[in-house]
Amino acid sequence: ALTRISPTFQRALQQSCRYYATKTPTTKLFIDGKFLDSKTDRWIDLHNPATNEVITRVPQATQAEMQAAVDSCKKTFKTWSQSTVLTRQQCMFKFQQLIKDNIKELARLITLEQGKTLVDAEGDVMRGLQVVEHCCSITSLQLGETMSGIAKDMDTYTIRVPLGVTAGITPFNFPAMIPLWMFPVALITGNTQVLKPSERDPGATMFLVKLAQDAGFPDGAVNVIHGAHDAVNFICDNPDIKAISFVGSDQAGTHIYERGSKNGKRVQSNMGAKNHGVIMPDANKENTLNQLVGAAFGAAGQRCMALSTALFVGEAKKWIPELVARAKQLKVNAGHEPDADLGPLISPAAKQRVCSLIQSGVDEGAQLLLDGRNIKVPGYDKGNFVGPTILHNVKPEMKCYQEEIFGPVLVSMEVDTLDDAIKVINKNRYGNGTAIFTTNGATARKYTQEIDVGQIGVNVPIPVPLPMFSFTGSRGSFMGDTNFYGKQGLNFYTQLKTVTQMWRGEDATVTRPAVAMPV
Ligand code: NAD
Repeated sequence: ALTRISPTFQRALQQSCRYYATKTPTTKLFIDGKFLDSKTDRWIDLHNPATNEVITRVPQATQAEMQAAVDSCKKTFKTWSQSTVLTRQQCMFKFQQLIKDNIKELARLITLEQGKTLVDAEGDVMRGLQVVEHCCSITSLQLGETMSGIAKDMDTYTIRVPLGVTAGITPFNFPAMIPLWMFPVALITGNTQVLKPSERDPGATMFLVKLAQDAGFPDGAVNVIHGAHDAVNFICDNPDIKAISFVGSDQAGTHIYERGSKNGKRVQSNMGAKNHGVIMPDANKENTLNQLVGAAFGAAGQRCMALSTALFVGEAKKWIPELVARAKQLKVNAGHEPDADLGPLISPAAKQRVCSLIQSGVDEGAQLLLDGRNIKVPGYDKGNFVGPTILHNVKPEMKCYQEEIFGPVLVSMEVDTLDDAIKVINKNRYGNGTAIFTTNGATARKYTQEIDVGQIGVNVPIPVPLPMFSFTGSRGSFMGDTNFYGKQGLNFYTQLKTVTQMWRGEDATVTRPAVAMPV
């Protein structure tokens, strides 16, 4: 696999890895501006999901290494938080350009470690890049508020100040976009950040922090540690870390939210999802079926905003055979192959879990309209592939409906009315995203008013907001009260200071103490 990658990427990989006699490179830590070999004796093998070859070994950083990362952030915070807003903005401009220049290499690295198709991997980078671009507007975004003449000779103003050392903990499914939801927002507002990328694909983070360094962000502005539960608990417990951004599963997110909050930290936690698409009989059939297939099976269903449940209202059920036919046409292949529509799942364990959830649906009485479990991908016998799968007549009490499957599996239901669809969705514990497909404005408006989900698409299958807005998943998909990126993200990484000042001429000297509450 390594022979297929470009010279630029090989150079970047060599900088962040050390080749041992075994020729298996190891991923380095990034501490105080240096790529360092970990002294740990605990390593996690990282496999290419299309072949299951080991590509790199990821260290589980020692306590001393993790402490060194926090110390570096703490030291740099003293100067970085005092840097001018224009200095920070200039670094962000350069960072933005460097990401653009390296988008193909980043995509190749993502495909190698994570498995998604190259074009999808570029999308992963692009959606993160948009957050970086938004951060470049910090000179307007971080303006405070002023009110003059609050009392005689008295004015009040607010400023937004950074929190200090912050931390980011990321999942495997968007190795570029999600770290870019975190550290650029932290850095532009004057914080520093310890990142703990997913141990299953940390390569994009390593590449991105190298680009950040080249863009002029100072040593210690961002540090990277690796590991799993111990690294996460270290972050939750470390008294110098003031805030944690987390994206990942419910189990980890709940744990991190509870443990971090108990230790007095600000925590934002984006978690799992079960996103429903409602198909009205008046929808544009061609667009709707194509959008549904793309949003259910793209990235092999490993997106928190995948449309993983379809609710066919009334006569829309007649389109189901056509939906199956379109899903069948998708090409499953290794992500770097030019004809791939969807790549492998992240690991053999993920494949096994997805297959057993499909079987649970069958056992509980759902109809298996399309079964991708036994798919063969020529040349990639050992890959973690599952083809597009559709389970129909699924009932809300079935396990395949209750759990987030996180694979290329669409569960589908028939309901009589829009009200029935809304009832089903509002009863589901998650509130990440949903979409309605209709040509009727009143139907769309009713849906957006009555549905209890944080991100809604009207004829838009994956309504992930651009960063002038924020990512506003709700209910079981989010813990915390300030969302990721956009205005909300800036608020998360800053706190308000409010200054009330009185400047009075010599002639207005106060002659006696005012003991009553000033009004
Ligand atoms: P994950 O929870 O397994 O891993 C995320 C991070 O948490 C990793 O860095 C990992 O090391 C750490 N971690 C994992 N288990 C832990 C535990 N028990 N205790 C402490 N730390 C732990 O998630 P994943 O499998 O990498 O990602 C997929 C999940 O992320 C899906 O549920 C998906 O819906 C969710 N996700 C949500 C969003 C969103 O914005 N809502 C976006 C992307 C992914």
